[in-house]
Amino acid sequence: ERLVGPVADRDDQAVEAALRPKDLDEFIGQEKVREQLDLVLKAARARGATADHVLLSGAPGLGKTTLSMIIAAEMGAPIRITSGPAIQHAGDLAAILSSLQEGEVLFLDEIHRMSRPAEEMLYMAMEDFRVDVIVGKGPGATAIPLELPPFTLVGATTRAGLLPPPLRDRFGFTAHMEFYAPAELERVVHRSARLLDVEIDPEGAAEIAGRSRGTPRIANRLLRRVRDYAQVRADGIITREIAATALAVYEVDARGLDRLDRAVLEALLKLFGGGPVGLSTLAVAVGEERETVEEVAEPFLVREGLLARTPRGRVATPAAWAHLGLVPPQAAGT
Ligand code: ATP
Repeated sequence: ERLVGPVADRDDQAVEAALRPKDLDEFIGQEKVREQLDLVLKAARARGATADHVLLSGAPGLGKTTLSMIIAAEMGAPIRITSGPAIQHAGDLAAILSSLQEGEVLFLDEIHRMSRPAEEMLYMAMEDFRVDVIVGKGPGATAIPLELPPFTLVGATTRAGLLPPPLRDRFGFTAHMEFYAPAELERVVHRSARLLDVEIDPEGAAEIAGRSRGTPRIANRLLRRVRDYAQVRADGIITREIAATALAVYEVDARGLDRLDRAVLEALLKLFGGGPVGLSTLAVAVGEERETVEEVAEPFLVREGLLARTPRGRVATPAAWAHLGLVPPQAAGT
C-alpha cells in the first residue's frame, strides 16, 4: 500500500467517516457538479418526487461515496451502500432492490464490475421500478414480476466509458468528478485539520496540498502522517517546514511523486537518456513488473506531464528533467 495511492486502506476507512462533508455546502470544489446536483435535488424535493438516478464518474478518492451520502442526506432519505463486485448473481441484486424503502438511495460503487445478468435486471429496475425474478431452471423457468418502491440509484465508476450504453442512458444525471486544484485541497486540509484538532498554518496546508495528487483522500492521509511527525519531533504545529520534512521522511516529494514514481523517472532519464524506451525494458531497469510500472506509476507521471507514452516507447518530457534537477543530453552538449 502506497502513501500516495488513491484507494482507501484500513487506516483511511477508520477515519474517513469523521472527515466526510455532510451536505453540499460543506463539500469542497467540484463547483459545476455541485451546482448541477443542487438543482436536480431541489427540483425533485419541490415535486415531492424521488431524485433521478445519478452516475458519478471519476478516479478513486475524489469523493464519490461522500457525494452519494450527501444526496441521501439532502433528500432526507436512507442510503444503502454496495458495490458491483459484491453482486455476483441477479438474485443478490433482487434481494437488495426488493428490500429498499421508498425514496431510498442505493449507492452502487464500481458499477461497471457487476455481472451481466445483474446489469440487465438493473435496467428494468431503474426504468420501471420492477424486476422479473426467475424461478426454476430450463424450459420450466418462470418470471415472477416484482414491483419495487421508487428509489434513486447512485452509480459510481472510474470511467463512464466503461459502462454499456443502455446502462449509461438510464441515468438522469451524470457528473464527472475532476482532480482537485491545489487551492481546493488546501481547504480540504484545513477542514480536516480542524476536525482532527490539529494546528496548521496556511503554508503547511499548501505544502501538503501540493503533494496530494489532486485527491482529497491522499490529502487527508498525508495530513495524518505529518501530524504524527509534528507531535513526535516538534511542538505539534504544522508549518511548511514540518510538512516538507515529514513528507521527505515518507519519500513523497514536492510534486507528490513517491519512491516508485521517481525510480521510473530516474531510470528513464539516467539509463535511457530520456527515451524512447520500451515498457518492458523500463520495468526491468526498476526491478518491477510491467503492470506495476504501467498501471501504478505511469498514470500520474503522464497526468503530470512528466512522461509520454509514444508508439516508439516511453519518453521523458522537459518537465521531467527539470523535476529531477538533471540536464537533458542535447542541452548538455550545446
Ligand atoms: P472510492 O472510489 O475509492 O470509494 P471515493 O471517490 O468514493 O473513493 P470518498 O470515499 O468519497 O472517495 O472520499 C475520500 C475521502 O476524501 C473522504 O474521507 C472524504 O472526507 C474526503 N473528501 C472527498 N471529497 C471531498 C470534498 N469535496 N471535500 C472534502 N473532503 C472530501
